[in-house]
Amino acid sequence: MTPLERTALGLERLLGPSTAVTDPALCEGYARDESETDTVTPACVVRARSADDVRATLRLANAHDTPVFARGAGTGRTGGAAVTEPGVVIDTTAMNQVVALSRTEQRVIVEPGLVTAALQALVEAEGLFFPPDPQSAAWSTLGGNVAENAAGPRAYKYGPTRNYVLGLDAVSGDGTLVSHGRMTRKGVTGYDTTALLVGSEGTLAVFTRLTLALTALRPAVTGLWALFGHTHDAARAVTALTARGLDVRCIEFFDGHCCRVIDRADPALGWARTEAALVIECDGGDPEAVARTREAVGALCVEHRAREVLVAESVDEREALWAVRKTMSRALRALRRFKLSEDVVVPVGALEALLDAVAEIAAREGLTMPTYGHAGDGNLHVNLLWDDPAERPAVERAVASLFRATLDLGGTLSGEHGVGVLKAPFLGWEQGDALIALQRGLKAVFDPRGVLNPGKIFARPSHRGC
Ligand SMILES: Cc1cc2nc3c(=O)[nH]c(=O)nc-3n(C[C@H](O)[C@H](O)[C@H](O)COP(=O)(O)OP(=O)(O)OC[C@H]3O[C@@H](n4cnc5c(N)ncnc54)[C@H](O)[C@@H]3O)c2cc1C
Repeated sequence: MTPLERTALGLERLLGPSTAVTDPALCEGYARDESETDTVTPACVVRARSADDVRATLRLANAHDTPVFARGAGTGRTGGAAVTEPGVVIDTTAMNQVVALSRTEQRVIVEPGLVTAALQALVEAEGLFFPPDPQSAAWSTLGGNVAENAAGPRAYKYGPTRNYVLGLDAVSGDGTLVSHGRMTRKGVTGYDTTALLVGSEGTLAVFTRLTLALTALRPAVTGLWALFGHTHDAARAVTALTARGLDVRCIEFFDGHCCRVIDRADPALGWARTEAALVIECDGGDPEAVARTREAVGALCVEHRAREVLVAESVDEREALWAVRKTMSRALRALRRFKLSEDVVVPVGALEALLDAVAEIAAREGLTMPTYGHAGDGNLHVNLLWDDPAERPAVERAVASLFRATLDLGGTLSGEHGVGVLKAPFLGWEQGDALIALQRGLKAVFDPRGVLNPGKIFARPSHRGC
């Protein structure tokens, strides 16, 4: 029997066959996430119901040097939850309880498998607000959000998930359960291991409980969309908006390809013949103040040659647009046989240069590269679409050129999707050897036998880019 078979059999005996599933037909469904990473079927899927299940799994995995892949909803875009070598999956979706909610402390304690949108709805019913809003919120889990430091449109005003994690319970790679962080809003005792675990992509520990900060719900929300004849005008409007410091909660950008996708999905929105668009939202406590901000934003877009500024007056109008926005990734996916979605960030002042670089790379490589994203944060999702496997080398060259351009503009290779397996070969383009060595050392402290998510963030020598 191989060590992996011993682990799978041991887990089945220890946890029972309904928790430790070994049927290959069922396990197959846990192999991949929402990236195009190559995967293998896991030998066992532990449908964890408690921290004890997670501990038992990691202890046995350590004993047999078995790779372990923590998994939430599997919506990750960089192969974080993908099973890239034979091993065991810990599925955390059954750990989905709200443990405690405090209005006084504006704080909630949850299990990691709770779906993000379920938490948002729950706290909003209490007059509270959990700002992080990945566009996958209807499916993604809070554990996955914390592991990726997920963000979304509202991060422009409210910041990413990291800003809302006060503490967490996590089982380190060696099977030790540790409580990190605190219950209070302030605190500076010891190293900030909570912050280290946020964004650790399942490579250091498996979260079993999360303590999250909330804020007061801003009841007044209003938005507009501004339609432009050229991407440069839209990019300049974004930099002007950030420079003015208006109280805006999101500034989303769509290039001409994406505008046409939106027009096809909902012609009533009137986005035909638009080469770039911005969707901007403001929120606050006072509807009149929020409306004044929206007017100032609209005027600024007109100053920057917006051809049309349409105000989303009603909740229904706003929701219609966000519904299209939320399906943008999948709508683009449906256009071609293959799709790769990059997630680069540049300083906001370099947005125009980044958009020029994308257009130049697409023309040079003969590819379609629809681009949209969280422009207020300088974070664009650059998509590469193709049909013919023979185009793969052109795609790889395009990705490399995009990353080089991003770094030359002072940017970073991921704003919210993480490194996973897809960007691991490029980490050294952005970070120096000393920093990577330091991080590998931290990984060894949390996970001495290297069982957690091997090959993620830090490439195995055999990994190829893209
Ligand atoms: C249509 C679509 C839109 C998206 N929009 C956004 C967006 O706007 N913003 C954004 O940031 N992302 C976005 N994403 C990416 C994705 O939804 C996020 O990365 C999300 O946080 C992943 O959550 P998940 O539950 O699916 O995690 P998974 O994909 O299952 O896992 C992601 C990572 O988290 C680790 N992990 C999962 N659970 C745990 C745990 N309990 N303990 C430790 N590690 C764990 C996994 O090992 C993996 O490395 C989008 C994805 C899709 C498909």
